Amino acid sequence: MNRIPHVAIIGAGFGGIEAAKHLAKAPVRITLIDKRNYHLFQPLLYQVAIAGLSPVQIAHPVRAIFRRQRNLNFLMADVSDIDFKARKVLTEHKSLDYDYLILSAGSRTNFFGMQSIEENGHEMKDISSAVATRNHLLKMFENASRETDAGARRAMLTFVVVGGGPTGVESAGALAELIHLVLTKDYPQMDLRDARVILAEAANHLMPNVYPRNLQAATLKLLRGKRVSVRLKAKVTGFDGSCLRFEDGETIPTHTLIWTAGVRVASLVEKLNVEKGPGGRILVKPTLQLPGYPEAYVIGDAAYLEDEKGQPLSMLATVAQQQARHAAKNIRQELREQPPKPFAYKDPGLLATIGRNAAVARIGGVSFSGLLAWLIWVALHIYRLIGFRNRLVVMLNWAWDYFFYDSQVRLITKE
Ligand SMILES: Cc1cc2nc3c(=O)[nH]c(=O)nc-3n(C[C@H](O)[C@H](O)[C@H](O)COP(=O)(O)OP(=O)(O)OC[C@H]3O[C@@H](n4cnc5c(N)ncnc54)[C@H](O)[C@@H]3O)c2cc1C
Repeated sequence: MNRIPHVAIIGAGFGGIEAAKHLAKAPVRITLIDKRNYHLFQPLLYQVAIAGLSPVQIAHPVRAIFRRQRNLNFLMADVSDIDFKARKVLTEHKSLDYDYLILSAGSRTNFFGMQSIEENGHEMKDISSAVATRNHLLKMFENASRETDAGARRAMLTFVVVGGGPTGVESAGALAELIHLVLTKDYPQMDLRDARVILAEAANHLMPNVYPRNLQAATLKLLRGKRVSVRLKAKVTGFDGSCLRFEDGETIPTHTLIWTAGVRVASLVEKLNVEKGPGGRILVKPTLQLPGYPEAYVIGDAAYLEDEKGQPLSMLATVAQQQARHAAKNIRQELREQPPKPFAYKDPGLLATIGRNAAVARIGGVSFSGLLAWLIWVALHIYRLIGFRNRLVVMLNWAWDYFFYDSQVRLITKE
């Protein structure tokens, strides 16, 4: 009897989940491995941090996603290493032999070696960091409500988001709305005109260069309309928990820094002894295979591949998902003893929200901003969430918040 080939997939994020689904009907057995038992919808993490959604609404248990997929087994384990020569995945529980491997271990926050920021700042990477940010933000308002010194109160109500990419822009816009539309009603005795949201960006524009100039400018205008104070060419170099320092020596008294300015590969990827490209991402062949190890595919944030114009593919969920489908297809090709094919990214467009009724979009080559872009953003994010219940609850939540200027999760859950 023929042995059924074993596919090990590392990571139940955007890439891993998509790859596993696209191998459902293939004549293989799959082990999907993740150190967490849930898939996290990272694009909405900032909503957890700004008290808009609760963590369960943006996460879904992996076992529930694959309940009906008979050829898949989930293993909750931390992968410590991969022996590409011996075709083995090493975890704290056991080691697994594989015939094919799909590595989709994602990325983590890059503080660029600035320890004071790593220790005292907040990041937006997983549920615990987003909940910690929410607790901290809400605590600042409680502290400020008791504070009698105007200077100390102003520092408590100064919130600095660092990084003018989509996550920073979305966080700053949503935080300004939380303060001026919702918390202002919770603290009628406090003058929240004192509260400031500052967005600091080292470059001379917001949003990455893949966004056209008119959308970068529209983002700036929309954010300013939401009372976010945007500082361009402002490089943050340190933060001790009560004072933030810029490269030019300027300081801002604040207790809150939310760092969204950098991403680097997962620690597993960092330790693997294979050829790396910029950012420590693993260099892959156009077929997404690891050079020298054709049975190993690397996808998503962990992989470095350039498009036809020589530009590196971005660390985006859409890239990870398309690569996942492609890697699954190439494995099916190989099972039929046909050669794997090169990957080509189909750009579905760009979309980022700045807050209520405000977003920027480039779809089908057309750039636009405002209400229409925001409605598309809302619909797309509800559609992309995993699980009907999550979709329904998030939709009801957002509708409620929209009409009643509310925000559901204003809970401080840790002292
Ligand atoms: C705050 C935030 C907002 C974002 N917003 C957007 C957006 O709006 N649009 C967009 O397209 N992209 C967005 N992204 C980027 C997008 O989330 C990533 O590009 C995408 O998740 C990459 O998919 P992946 O499969 O490579 O990694 P991930 O989805 O990160 O999955 C990696 C998985 O690997 C697991 N893992 C890692 N190391 C190990 C190990 N050693 N052992 C076991 N398991 C391990 C992790 O637990 C995780 O589940 C955002 C990212 C963040 C952080």
